[in-house]
Amino acid sequence: MTTGLSLDANATEPLRPEARAAVLAALDLPGNPSSVHAEGRAARRLLEDARGAIAARFGGRAQDVVFTAGGTEANALALHGLSAGRRVLVGATEHPAVLRAAPGATLLPVRADGTIDLAALDAALAAAGPALVCLMAANNETGVLHPIADAAGLCGRYGALLHVDAVQAAGRAPLPAGADSLALSAHKLGGPKGAGALLLRPGLDPTPLIAGGGQERGRRGGTEPLPAIAGFAAAARAATDQAAARLAPIRDAIEAAIAALAPEARFPGQGAPRLPNTSAILLPGVPAETQVIALDLAGVRVSAGAACSSGKVGASHVLAAMGLGGDAACTIRMSLPWNAPEDSVERFVAAWAAMREQVTRRAA
Ligand code: PLP
Repeated sequence: MTTGLSLDANATEPLRPEARAAVLAALDLPGNPSSVHAEGRAARRLLEDARGAIAARFGGRAQDVVFTAGGTEANALALHGLSAGRRVLVGATEHPAVLRAAPGATLLPVRADGTIDLAALDAALAAAGPALVCLMAANNETGVLHPIADAAGLCGRYGALLHVDAVQAAGRAPLPAGADSLALSAHKLGGPKGAGALLLRPGLDPTPLIAGGGQERGRRGGTEPLPAIAGFAAAARAATDQAAARLAPIRDAIEAAIAALAPEARFPGQGAPRLPNTSAILLPGVPAETQVIALDLAGVRVSAGAACSSGKVGASHVLAAMGLGGDAACTIRMSLPWNAPEDSVERFVAAWAAMREQVTRRAA
């Protein structure tokens, strides 16, 4: 058990107690959901309950929910499975789970506030012919929400498909209407790691990435990880948009306090609609890695832009696409978890102020 203050929920949310209980209960179900005998049928019932819960929580029909191993696989399935004969257009600030699943895709620019440039999307669609557009509902580094309804309107006009990476938005903000497919991840909404889903518009049938034994209506082979899926469904039920909205005043108070004590600080994306829990905090001249380490030593855990698998901090392509130049490397991400303590403002601001004092003294 770690102590201190973890404000890195966009990397992964703490496990919700409802999800933990559901995982443990499912571990005791011995059957394979594909078996026809009684144990198999009991496992199948739990699987289909979970499918129904995800559909009810995020919209759509249960039979159009394809369980995957997480958000990365859900995005890869959409990009692999829906792109035949289509030019792929992706936002410049998408997660690597999307960017690396779409080699050769056309990158769509964002505006300085991080939202997609709709005029550029319009022009790209006009030039592309049949297209698959991929945009994130909410950005993992800044929390900025793209105008998905407007993008969906443009895609509809050109007959393009729209895939939305809703991994960060699900459970924190209402999901936008108009997408042809949505990617979700259990651990980003307080469920266990190892489950996710692709939600499809009725009638869409992606080519599978993994054919296997024909599970998930032939869309994703492999025995379903029932404990992770049961935990995913329990977390989805518990993660209400209203509860997440509680975090916005905490985030806003943190930004206001930092702005008051450090006039040089900036908050990329602050002017755009954002997730309630996320703040990108830029301290000019101080590498993000230095800030993250100093805060960690003070017991406060945040991240430098996106956490990448190697644990190394690279320059953020998100902030670079927003035109931040060298300052992109001086920005940390603070993301409040669903159970953020009420005194998060005082504790974070005190640690941040001490960190700034320390790095400024060292530089002098
Ligand atoms: N999409 C976004 C926007 C993310 O932030 C992440 C994870 O950080 C992913 C996709 C990948 O999800 P997962 O960790 O479930 O593979």
